[in-house]
Amino acid sequence: MISLYIHLPFCRKKCVYCDFASTSKTEDMDDYLRALGQEIDLYKEDLRDQEIQTIYLGGGTPSVLGQERLVPLFEKIQESFKLSKDLEWTMEANPESGKNLDFQTLNQLGLNRVSMGIQSGQKNFLDLMGRIHSLEDVDACLEQLAKSSIEEINGDFIFGLPGQDLNHVKKDLDYIQSLALTHLSYYSFIPEEGTPLGEEVLSGLKKLPKDQEDRFMDHYIEDRLAELGYRQYELSNFTKKNPCRHNLAYWQVQDYLGLGLSAHSSYQSQRWANTTCLSSYMEDLALDKKPISQREKLSDRDRLMEKIILSLRLNRGIPVKDLEEGYGIDFKKVFSKAIEKNIQAQSLEEVDGFYRLTRYGRDVANQVELDFYRTF
Ligand code: SF4
Repeated sequence: MISLYIHLPFCRKKCVYCDFASTSKTEDMDDYLRALGQEIDLYKEDLRDQEIQTIYLGGGTPSVLGQERLVPLFEKIQESFKLSKDLEWTMEANPESGKNLDFQTLNQLGLNRVSMGIQSGQKNFLDLMGRIHSLEDVDACLEQLAKSSIEEINGDFIFGLPGQDLNHVKKDLDYIQSLALTHLSYYSFIPEEGTPLGEEVLSGLKKLPKDQEDRFMDHYIEDRLAELGYRQYELSNFTKKNPCRHNLAYWQVQDYLGLGLSAHSSYQSQRWANTTCLSSYMEDLALDKKPISQREKLSDRDRLMEKIILSLRLNRGIPVKDLEEGYGIDFKKVFSKAIEKNIQAQSLEEVDGFYRLTRYGRDVANQVELDFYRTF
């Protein structure tokens, strides 16, 4: 079993906080899709005996491709790989282009989960982020989705933006309450170097909320979403129905293949990443060459540490028995220093054979991760 990620890097306009591999050169879409088709052909033999359990079309903005390009891409994926009967197939959509899609046709081709980049319910914050969609676009996109049989709908939101306070977050939660979403990914804003908004924050031109205010916002989000029936299963992810199985595969360090510009892959102990340069990506594939720019082999220690760090992100916590069986270690003995320190600090607790972060632990998750990292 393996998961498949496909990167579609085109956006109508680059948002001012975004450091993803995305481009507004939409005139390159057809050439890119031809190259992607060649990359799929290069991998389909390798995956002949593997069943795909989840597919995730991310970006960029996959919905900007429009129905006329998405349908052939879906058909190409269908005919190239062995898809599980229980497949989870997600596609990201910007409400501005998603509102024009016929989701029922895509659903008939396998799509059963849509992740919408909504980010905020307040126009001034959408403008601050340079988002091109309006709140009317969100309604129109949800109306389109309601005409289809797609039941799993995620909304991406961001908090902790410059100029934001708890009242703004409360408004966004009121907005979320009014939307028919089954899943939420709610991330804290990170000012990225080299992005216009990130640079304004890093140079001090724009101020982020203070740490304590940021924690108030985070706690408010967790409590309010719980009241609204969303179960938290990861630091930033909440669901009324099912968790995102594709992201769970990453967090549980399962195998995945990434196709497209800048996509990463992990297979057994091998890791590799595709080039981030659009022209190199297309040139390599024109020569029938896999567009890989980096490779590394993970040691057992790397894999174990990755499992621990990523398990800490999940509300379930670190599966002690699985790690002991998988790596032949006495977990409590090897990590005794990190465990004792964090249990004493009330950032970690043991529940039914799992070590998991407490609410305070989620506030200081990076420090807890570091403690485990330094112990081994
Ligand atoms: S729509 Fe998404 S991928 Fe595109 S620029 Fe904005 S944040 Fe980046």
